[in-house]
Amino acid sequence: MKGKILVIEDNEQNLYLVRYILERNGYEVFTAPDGRSGIEEASSLQPDLILLDIQLPEMDGYAVARNLRRNPALENTPIVAVTSYAMVGDREKVMEAGCDGYIEKPIDPDTFVSQIERHLPGRDRSRRER
Ligand code: MN
Repeated sequence: MKGKILVIEDNEQNLYLVRYILERNGYEVFTAPDGRSGIEEASSLQPDLILLDIQLPEMDGYAVARNLRRNPALENTPIVAVTSYAMVGDREKVMEAGCDGYIEKPIDPDTFVSQIERHLPGRDRSRRER
């Protein structure tokens, strides 16, 4: 296994696609359908990376990211936002909430893994050593 990835996403189709791509690439995938359970899961799982949908029921992704960042154990866990919002200033908003990166939906299956691996420190290190 290359690492544990927690996917916080309420849309089943998106979840299915993301899980499929990540598992094919050797990752262990855990999922949460909303912010509250995502925060709980992140805390107990200590994933290597969190993929966070911004448009979630009740608690949106910005609030989830801010909450995750308040947990010292998750301080350095990469959080990558996944969102279909294409508004100007959106990127700034996700970064301000504590995310490390931003992927736009619909996701591109050909570049998705390289987009998230940019945020996995271990991968970056091994790439530099080569
Ligand atoms: Mn959603």
